[in-house]
Amino acid sequence: MKPPSRTGSVSVVPKVTEESPPPRVGIVGGGQLARMMAESASQWGLALSVLASRTDDSAVATVPHFELGDPNDPAIVTPWAEQCDVVTFDHELVDLDLYATLEAAGVLVAPSTAALRFASSKVYQRETLGAAGVRVPRYVVLRDYNAESIDAFWNAVGPELVLKSDRGGYDGRGVVMTSTRDDAHDAARELLEHGAIVLEEKLLLLAEIAGVVVTGHSGERRSYPLVHTVQSAGMCVEVRYPLTLDAATHAEAADLVEKVASIVNAVGVMAVELFVTERGVILNEVATRPHNSGHWTIEGCVTSQFENHLRAVAGLPLGDVSALHDHVVMVNVVGSTEPGSLRAALALPGVHVHDYGKSWRTGRKLGHVTVVGTDSSVRVRAWEGAEALGTSTTRETT
Ligand code: ADP
Repeated sequence: MKPPSRTGSVSVVPKVTEESPPPRVGIVGGGQLARMMAESASQWGLALSVLASRTDDSAVATVPHFELGDPNDPAIVTPWAEQCDVVTFDHELVDLDLYATLEAAGVLVAPSTAALRFASSKVYQRETLGAAGVRVPRYVVLRDYNAESIDAFWNAVGPELVLKSDRGGYDGRGVVMTSTRDDAHDAARELLEHGAIVLEEKLLLLAEIAGVVVTGHSGERRSYPLVHTVQSAGMCVEVRYPLTLDAATHAEAADLVEKVASIVNAVGVMAVELFVTERGVILNEVATRPHNSGHWTIEGCVTSQFENHLRAVAGLPLGDVSALHDHVVMVNVVGSTEPGSLRAALALPGVHVHDYGKSWRTGRKLGHVTVVGTDSSVRVRAWEGAEALGTSTTRETT
């Protein structure tokens, strides 16, 4: 078999079998999610093409085929997409109108742009899921600065408010917490320069949890076990399995994940982030792609979220989502002032290192480590691994 091309242009790619070639999957975006999808695909020979923005994008080093170009430029995307059997995404910050045009022209886009809209707009997500009876924080949408609306909302649910940009935010960027009326006005003015915002009540969080589900084209859906997520400055730093919540709250959360997943109806993997509060389980947000809260599934579950995402979008049978171990902890490696030591991390027993191959930058997610085991001590080793690699976050943030 001819080795796959390493040039930018899409070329003939190897087929698993001549009888039933699996579809060629195009991934929009070359970030670490595309990289981990490619790592999975290489194990079982699925043909991929990544549309990367830059040659130093995380996935470029690991995929056999990539195209270089702006994922929102029709002149780049259209010919690339037409050579893929299905197009999926590394991130949701894309021009939905462009991908909807491709869908209308017969390109298979998974998840669909209708599902992607939930993840790409916090306003749409709050309004649509709230209207469908999903419990969301009390909120108000602002498209222009309006002092009376802010004052009225502040009087109703203040003094602490959370302001969120409608689009473009991730890892806590585009989210501002305020504790005074003046700060709320200032933050609203600033965020509104970039588009609409959601103002919401600041909830007292007892825990943050997440559910990852995978859905096939036929509607078949499987749910990974729920996990605890720990954030620092709005960014996820740690994910823990199993969930240690009372049975009633666990069941409430699982029902909410199922309800949200069936409304969003995203083919592939999606994540549902939830807040546990005194008022019950409340939706935070959804992502219509593999998610940081699912990285633990690479070593922790029978089928990783990356493999299952590719299986789902390619129309292949979904894999088992059961956990393989009693305890699994994943800790992100977030850039500090200088890199740590791979040698020191690998010297720690059971530490699985995932390096995304990105240039070192303070505050940037550069990789993660996972430790599996039979008791909760895996958490200590996972943090030791991330610290050896130089993470800037501390385990005291829990
Ligand atoms: P992003 O889209 O950037 O991931 P999120 O909306 O998930 O941002 O918010 C990031 C973090 O901020 C959450 O994980 C949570 O810790 C905190 N947060 C967000 N909204 C609220 C809220 N309404 N009340 C309390 N904390 C919140």
